[in-house]
Amino acid sequence: MASLQLSCAERIRSVSTGKPAARRQTLQRAAIAAVIAQARGPLTIAQICERARGICPRLGLATVYRTVRLLLETQQIHALMMPSGERCYEAADLDHHHHFRCRRCQQVYDLPGCLLSISDGARLPDGFVVDGHEVTLFGTCPECRRSRHRSVRRREPGVGR
Ligand SMILES: [Zn+2]
Ligand SMILES: [Zn+2]
Ligand SMILES: [Zn+2]
Repeated sequence: MASLQLSCAERIRSVSTGKPAARRQTLQRAAIAAVIAQARGPLTIAQICERARGICPRLGLATVYRTVRLLLETQQIHALMMPSGERCYEAADLDHHHHFRCRRCQQVYDLPGCLLSISDGARLPDGFVVDGHEVTLFGTCPECRRSRHRSVRRREPGVGR
């Protein structure tokens, strides 16, 4: 992850001409690339914009769209469609993995590895041949589970004492 972040930033930096406007654009693009590389799961354009503004506060939505298109064209990221119909983006060099969508905070997380035993090339009944799969699981993320436990404890006096 860290090396991808660096390589994205380096590649974008090499495009810079060194003029102030170009420099700002370079920094904004590097911020967007870093946000996607460091994310724990695929992000929507709105999420990329919100997080990258933590680094470049004056970042505009148009720049986010432009940069995401550039990162797509150079195959540093890829787009994926969530079951909700939202278009999300993540680093292109991730190994095959599945996603987990938290029903409480709506955040989508990457789950490491594959949880399915159906391999590519597998033949299913009725003549279907598998050549890939995408899986999104639903449930509650660790952060939301922790905060729910905290709020339950706060609401119920005497518990845990
Ligand atoms: Zn959550
Ligand atoms: Zn992912
Ligand atoms: Zn899998």
